[in-house]
Amino acid sequence: MPALILDGTRIAQDIRSEVAREVKALSAAGLRPGLAVVLVGHNPASEIYVRGKVKACEEVGLYSEKLTPPESSTTSELLALIDDLNRRDEIDGILVQLPLPQQVDSKKILLAVDPAKDVDGFHPMNVGFLSTQRSGLVPCTPAGVIEILKRSNIPIAGKEAVVVGRSDIVGKPAAMLLTNANATVTICHSKTHDLPGVSRRADILVAAIGRAGMITRDFVKPGATVIDVGMNTITDPAEFQRFFAGNGKREESFRKKGSTLIGDVHPEVMQVAGALTPVPGGVGPLTIAMLMYNTVKAAKMRRGSRVAELSRA
Ligand code: NAP
Repeated sequence: MPALILDGTRIAQDIRSEVAREVKALSAAGLRPGLAVVLVGHNPASEIYVRGKVKACEEVGLYSEKLTPPESSTTSELLALIDDLNRRDEIDGILVQLPLPQQVDSKKILLAVDPAKDVDGFHPMNVGFLSTQRSGLVPCTPAGVIEILKRSNIPIAGKEAVVVGRSDIVGKPAAMLLTNANATVTICHSKTHDLPGVSRRADILVAAIGRAGMITRDFVKPGATVIDVGMNTITDPAEFQRFFAGNGKREESFRKKGSTLIGDVHPEVMQVAGALTPVPGGVGPLTIAMLMYNTVKAAKMRRGSRVAELSRA
């Protein structure tokens, strides 16, 4: 039986509706959460991501501001800009779109963001909060992975989870969240021996690798839940055929656009897995929804007590 498709678009929409309701209530109490997105220079992919984020903010009623310093910006100029955003009370979340231009010290910039406004959850203080199970801001994509599992009623506690990928932004925080939710977690990477064998132990397999269709059916225990975080673009017709031959809908869109999006999971896994997130329409939509969620959370954590005071007055 083909796997149950976990519809990330629908789950993301549910979260966005919940966030919109909360933004409305907070705004009525005089606290409209605000997000500042910093886009340095003209990276076409970053411009598309930022456009999506600003549009999503508008849709849920958040205040948003896009700052576009030039490509030639220096580390100290960007530090001054972050300092200004840290000080502004109406800005609850600061998102610095990566990658930054080569001459900029990205680590220094990310470290300068006030942890209370770090809606990406990348600041070491938030990383520490996550690993010690304190309340903080959690990276959006891994937080989205957990939302998909929970909202699809997929049990996590006591299950074997394998995360392939150990990046600071996806793999490691996803593993930490699964650990906090009481899964038994194995983290794999490019030096892991017998990756298919280790992956096959998983009740929940998270692929965050960045390699088109690498997770084939040999990696998947029958009935496992497979979460595909990967987002890879295919333009080579031969590669396209290898993955999607006979898929009429994909073929038509590939002919029109000359490219298609594929995850790290091979389409054949559909025949083995119990449940699977599609690409597109799986984890991707959750990332922006969780950014909105984090902005509201940041506003409540930093300014929430003032709302309580206002409503008492
Ligand atoms: P990354 O920083 O490049 O990390 C990739 C990880 O995969 C590394 O830990 C690497 O191992 C491991 N890896 C690479 N080749 C491997 C192999 N052959 N066998 C086993 N492990 C291997 O990537 P990332 O930022 O975590 O992103 C991963 C994927 O998720 C990408 O496709 C990215 O586009 C996608 N992504 C999607 C979203 C979304 O919103 N859906 C958000 C973020 C990222 P080493 O550590 O040993 O090098």
